[in-house]
Amino acid sequence: MATLIDGTAIAAAIRDEVRAEAAQLKSRYGIVPGLATILVGDDPASATYVRNKRKACAEVGIQSFGYELPATTAQGELLNLIGELGQRADVHGILVQVPLPDQIDEKTALDAVPLSKDVDGFNPANLGVLGVKGQRPMFAPCTPQGCIELLDRSAIQIASKRAVVLGRSTIVGLPVALMLLSRDATVTLCHSKTVDLPSITRQADILVAAIGKARMVTADMVKPGAVIIDVGTNRIADPTRKSGSRLVGDVDFEAVKEIAGAITPVPGGVGPMTIAMLLRNTLLAARRQAEK
Ligand code: NDP
Repeated sequence: MATLIDGTAIAAAIRDEVRAEAAQLKSRYGIVPGLATILVGDDPASATYVRNKRKACAEVGIQSFGYELPATTAQGELLNLIGELGQRADVHGILVQVPLPDQIDEKTALDAVPLSKDVDGFNPANLGVLGVKGQRPMFAPCTPQGCIELLDRSAIQIASKRAVVLGRSTIVGLPVALMLLSRDATVTLCHSKTVDLPSITRQADILVAAIGKARMVTADMVKPGAVIIDVGTNRIADPTRKSGSRLVGDVDFEAVKEIAGAITPVPGGVGPMTIAMLLRNTLLAARRQAEK
């Protein structure tokens, strides 16, 4: 039976560290870390994400500045706002919640966030150096860094292990693979065109699933004793719940936990880590300014 990697507990420990360091920054330099959140439109899921991020900021002593723009906002207006926030000394991090409405090009908007305030780590310059030996990004992207942190804080060795990552998206799969590689794992990156996935996943000492397909990774795809990091969040119907649905990962948790060595649950695994990493990146941005 696998050990449970408790993302909720690990994320709480990180938030405690951030809270303590934010207090120190305030008493030593008079600087309160600040995060600006920009929400364009009224997508309810995005609104919830932003609300949760701002609440998490408040809990650790990070000031948050919320900007809610109408769905009809022109790209130029958004770029102006990002430009203004880029100049402000009390804003250390800028978060543009995606997806953005159709009239706004996501890449243009994300690229407009200055590198020194890109606490999401989505700027291509931050992503690009992940794979360069000896270089570190200004900010590591939050969800991938959360996966690495879960391994580190569970004392799971990465170097020399065989790691398989399922999914090659720019925000999760690809950066996770590059980060595992930079930590000296031997990495295979799989995607929808990969042939005979089970024969590859069965070689994994560390298996990261980031595909967005409910319970696709079944027990026969997993090597006994492997470490499983399940990034997937998929909503499935569940008539026993009041809401009529529940969240599951990309991994068939119930079956896989019987043979894996360690596994993250969904919810309560990678999810809480993403926000914890955002808080830590915002603190880092403020600390850099203080030490300038
Ligand atoms: P994307 O849809 O951008 O990428 C999915 C990736 O999975 C693609 O690379 C795709 O391949 C690959 N894929 C799809 N089907 C298969 C298959 N049958 N076999 C192998 N590979 C496949 O998703 P994201 O990376 O944005 O997100 C992945 C999951 O992680 C989602 O469930 C999302 O909700 C979750 N997520 C969770 C976060 C958290 O904080 N916990 C944060 C971000 C995401 P191809 O490139 O060939 O199309």
